[in-house]
Amino acid sequence: MKKELLEEVKFECPKCRHNEVEEVLINACVSSVIANIFSEELEYASGYEVHDADVDRYQCVKCGHIVAKTIKELYAVCNRMQD
Ligand SMILES: [Zn+2]
Repeated sequence: MKKELLEEVKFECPKCRHNEVEEVLINACVSSVIANIFSEELEYASGYEVHDADVDRYQCVKCGHIVAKTIKELYAVCNRMQD
């Protein structure tokens, strides 16, 4: 489905009013490209890339308050906060 057809809501933490939410992943398969190899250390070319993971929860970036477990639940919480 096109994003333009979807309804957007803004996040606001019910506890601290912060407006950044983060997705916390578990069981992730993560990789990083190596730029240089040293005797006891590696230097990475970029950040980590997540190939496969499960979403555990959505939480407030600031206070860590767990808001939802699924996208639908997150949307519902944000939708309710707007009223
Ligand atoms: Zn918060």
